[in-house]
Amino acid sequence: MHAELDLGLERRIGKRSAAVIEKHLGISTVGGLLNYFPRRYLSRGELTPISEVPLDEEVTLIARVVSNSTRPMRARRGSLTDVVISDDAGGALPGTLKVSFFNGFRARAELQPGRRAMFSGKVTRYGGSLGLTNPDFLLLDEDPDTPGIDPEKLAAMPIPVYPATAKLTSWSIQKVISTLLDTVDLETLGDPLPAEIAAREKFLPLADAYRLIHAPQTPADFQRARDRFRYQEALVLQSALARRRAQLAAEEATARRPAPDGLLPAFDRQLPFTLTAGQAAVGKTLSGELAQDSPMNRLLQGEVGSGKTIVALRAMLQVVDAGGQAALLAPTEVLAAQHYESIRRTLGPLSRDGMLGGFGPDAVQVTLLTGSMPTAARKQAMLDAASGTAGIVIGTHALLSDNVTFYDLGLIVVDEQHRFGVEQRDALRAKASKPPHLLVMTATPIPRTVAMTVFGDLETSVLDELPAGRAPISTHVVGLAEHPAWATRIWSRSREEIDAGHQVYVVCPKIGADDDGDFTPGEAEPSAADLEGENGSRELASVTGVVEHLQDEPALAGVAVAPLHGRQDPVLKSETMASFTANQTKLLVSTTVIEVGVDVHNATLMVILDADRFGISQLHQLRGRVGRGGLPGTCLLVTTLEPGHPSRRRLDAVAATTDGFELSQEDLKLRREGDILGASQSGGRSTLKLLRVLEHEDVIARARQDAQRIVAADPSLAGQPRLAAAIEEYLNPEKEAFLERG
Ligand code: ADP
Ligand code: MG
Repeated sequence: MHAELDLGLERRIGKRSAAVIEKHLGISTVGGLLNYFPRRYLSRGELTPISEVPLDEEVTLIARVVSNSTRPMRARRGSLTDVVISDDAGGALPGTLKVSFFNGFRARAELQPGRRAMFSGKVTRYGGSLGLTNPDFLLLDEDPDTPGIDPEKLAAMPIPVYPATAKLTSWSIQKVISTLLDTVDLETLGDPLPAEIAAREKFLPLADAYRLIHAPQTPADFQRARDRFRYQEALVLQSALARRRAQLAAEEATARRPAPDGLLPAFDRQLPFTLTAGQAAVGKTLSGELAQDSPMNRLLQGEVGSGKTIVALRAMLQVVDAGGQAALLAPTEVLAAQHYESIRRTLGPLSRDGMLGGFGPDAVQVTLLTGSMPTAARKQAMLDAASGTAGIVIGTHALLSDNVTFYDLGLIVVDEQHRFGVEQRDALRAKASKPPHLLVMTATPIPRTVAMTVFGDLETSVLDELPAGRAPISTHVVGLAEHPAWATRIWSRSREEIDAGHQVYVVCPKIGADDDGDFTPGEAEPSAADLEGENGSRELASVTGVVEHLQDEPALAGVAVAPLHGRQDPVLKSETMASFTANQTKLLVSTTVIEVGVDVHNATLMVILDADRFGISQLHQLRGRVGRGGLPGTCLLVTTLEPGHPSRRRLDAVAATTDGFELSQEDLKLRREGDILGASQSGGRSTLKLLRVLEHEDVIARARQDAQRIVAADPSLAGQPRLAAAIEEYLNPEKEAFLERG
């Protein structure tokens, strides 16, 4: 801890200013305010392009006054001053804003035509034109903070723009910070960056970096300051993750060595297919790590359909062979039930059904445990987990509850990782006397840098090839706006598929006519459309509405159609899924409950209605449900949006490639990064200040290497007290949400 950084702000900037900063920014320490960095910089000599100013956000912009007129208000006492400001751009775009002041005596006097000023407020649209109401403003030509500087230099000087609020302008914040810079002895601040790294990277000294990020003389100044703080941020983050990895690795686990005459070799002998090279390689890695007496902590990333389940099952069998139990945690009941069925089917005679018993002492009992099971069955399952009778326990969040215990839990497999946080993983880990081995699986393609940050406490393996015989999926955007007739063509196309003996998924964004979709908090990620807050009033396709409509659809006469969504009774849900798996139901109309993991080989067509309501990775996951049984799959992305609508870009991107990694990069570009890093859940900004996971991949990679080296040499960071303190600061509860995403 560094005394100066933790010092109350009032000691350096006085009581009044400190109170204002605390009230509006929630910052109370010297360190907090020093690290409140400008979001961007305006050029003092340049006007801000008005066409680029975002609407309905607090903005800071520089403009020139064109006209100023004042008139009495009609209905009330007082006057209205209208000031038109411009960015001098000319050209096609109207680079002007109308600024209105009620009783704006200062505006009337000071904002004379020709003057340049900085304005702060929310730009809104009235009718067709842009406007600002009662903004704060600062005349630039008379800025009292910069006396005696040569005008040319002054024009080039960047003006820091701080994240401002409606009540506290960027320049007020700047003023307070400038006082702070004068009163704090920056030279005595300890540097979280090891000197050797600062020297290697030729970074600015810490004190200079603080001065130049807040008060740059030239653009190069703030660039250099940002470079250092960005790297510092990456190093702190990566060191936190490296330390967690080191702590996990230092824990002692029970080694689960392969047994030459166990279930796993028997299973391998009966496998109806050959493992892909990737499956074999990852299998070898897992086998080796399970045989160690330190816990495995591994993330297995693989495209939808890459065959992660077999890899996990083989790891589970090795643990069972060594006398331990394995738990498989799935995000939904549908998926847990499906894993249960398919794992028992895949194991064949190697699995022992608890009810029938007696398939031989060597077989493993696979047990399902979910919250919706009838009490008696659930109690039995819990008993089997506790007594060790169950070798493999498959379940949902119910596995996390306190009254579920295991006899000897050796391996936890978490399927579709993005739904589970560190906290939940830890809850499961606590169920074993020694930390169990952990395998986390995700199909959501994660860009390398996100994997390095959010999942940085896990080692990563990737399955990057699909099993042979996997047929390609062709994806088409079906634009109903330009081709209304296609609305019925979708259903005759479905009929062709069904007549050929295949099955069809239809996915809708909503359950019924009057709900907002099938999103339980924390379960499904919001779609990109939600994130954009684009809640149009058009009627969206719903499961119940579509099922109703299809009853009268001539093309589908006589076809067995069934609805499936998250609000149905769990028993009905699993019956519906079973009927679809058994090829009795031909066309399944559902919400995104089928998004992850569902594996019905005979399904060949997926129709996604109002596809623009879903995010890129969601669409990619959804279409991965078809084309799984060696039959070519087709995915129709149906939209009523006009061609060229920004949200249709997502659909075009998904139709253009089946490469999940490429799509995840595209996704990152189209979404705000904060959402990927989890900040949207807390409603706050991204926890990352200067670091952008996509843009700064090389910074993150370098910092990760440095962090690994530092933590390996000095696990307690005793030799790096400032770095250790920065990590603690980073891990404070408010910021912990970030790591919990992992
Ligand atoms: P995911 O990685 O999406 O979870 P699954 O594990 O569900 O994929 O596998 C998809 C399908 O591919 C399953 O039906 C599985 O049996 C099959 N599969 C897995 N590995 C192979 C392989 N090596 N060869 C052929 N089919 C395979
Ligand atoms: Mg899966």
